[in-house]
Amino acid sequence: MGKKVCIIGSGNWGSAIAKIVGDQCAASDEFHTDVHMYVYEEMIKGEKLTEIINTRHENVKYLPGHKLPQNVIAVPDLVEAGKNADIMIFVVPHQFIRGFCEKLKDHVKPDAIGISLIKGMDHTKEGLQLISDVIKNILSIDVSVLMGANIASEVADEKFCETTIGCTVDANGQIFKRLLQTPNFRICVVNDSKTVEICGALKNIVACGAGFVCGLGYGDNTVSAVIRLGLMEMMKFAKAFFPDNPPQTATFLESCGVADLVTTCYGGRNRRVSQAFVTSKKTIEQLEEEMLGGQKLQGPQTAQEVYKVMQTLKINEDEYPLFVSVYNIFFNNTPVKNFIECLQKHPEHM
Ligand code: NAD
Ligand code: 13P
Ligand code: CA
Repeated sequence: MGKKVCIIGSGNWGSAIAKIVGDQCAASDEFHTDVHMYVYEEMIKGEKLTEIINTRHENVKYLPGHKLPQNVIAVPDLVEAGKNADIMIFVVPHQFIRGFCEKLKDHVKPDAIGISLIKGMDHTKEGLQLISDVIKNILSIDVSVLMGANIASEVADEKFCETTIGCTVDANGQIFKRLLQTPNFRICVVNDSKTVEICGALKNIVACGAGFVCGLGYGDNTVSAVIRLGLMEMMKFAKAFFPDNPPQTATFLESCGVADLVTTCYGGRNRRVSQAFVTSKKTIEQLEEEMLGGQKLQGPQTAQEVYKVMQTLKINEDEYPLFVSVYNIFFNNTPVKNFIECLQKHPEHM
């Protein structure tokens, strides 16, 4: 029998991780072989996406060209997918997680454990919250996180990479490592969970900055400067917003830190779409639609959430020129060519 695993989400990353989870659950006695995967139902050329997945074992919209293991079962009903699960893997675009948790509330096993693969943050009137805390608070379960340099299509191709699990309960971190580690998906478990998650969220803003400088015709040196200055702002932010939980510098050297910054700033969707934002003169919404075929960008919205929280807490904007500049370009019509000024006048050089 073993522990029942469910995956909440079936986008690009959700489907790539379903490949790993399905294979591992089939191979191990510790985990029940059948894996339920919640799929947001949609029609693809007259057929339901769940039916396509359950018959042809391929998520033709979000991860075309990859077979999913046959024991991964697509379920269109969220509550049905999550009930009876001992282990819940959350992997939806961050804008949807609160609504999903509200629907799941009262329908999850009280001793279930969760892990969030979601890169983003939640901002409400009450302030900024980590996604893992949103899940934890609504569902009353322990939630670990997994973040790393993990472009979904490469993971699905089984190209070697590393990732980081952040946990608050060591035993749960080890369960997730046994569930998810493969020869080509290597995991380090750390207990500085908040920093792991902050890295995953904030690197998407930095990736937008990398896209801007690429679109403006700057070179690799400039992208590296964006990565480094972005990292400095990420570290400062982690320190300022979690004063009770000071970030461990070593965490930024795990896959979730510098490595994910490098990957996303070169190959990620946020970088690619932000670059096209400069060269095409189209809106970010148009580009998301045209370039990503239903996949969702996290960077622009995270820049907005971070900016709002800076205002609420009366944080000096000059401390985070890169984050603020990305926000102003997307939401205040600031010309992209001005982006270079946030690098030229960065407090790191003063
Ligand atoms: P995605 O970008 O492919 O998003 C599409 C998903 O959103 C689909 O499952 C779709 O059904 C769903 N969706 C669309 N509209 C919806 C709606 N109105 N209500 C509910 N669901 C809706 O998703 P993803 O790539 O799996 O990303 C999920 C998380 O994983 C994000 O936080 C992302 O940052 C993170 N992540 C992604 C990658 C990657 O390479 N794709 C890698 C690491 C982490
Ligand atoms: P994008 O969402 O920018 O594609 O980043 C994917 C990612 O998180 C790689 O680790
Ligand atoms: Ca099994």
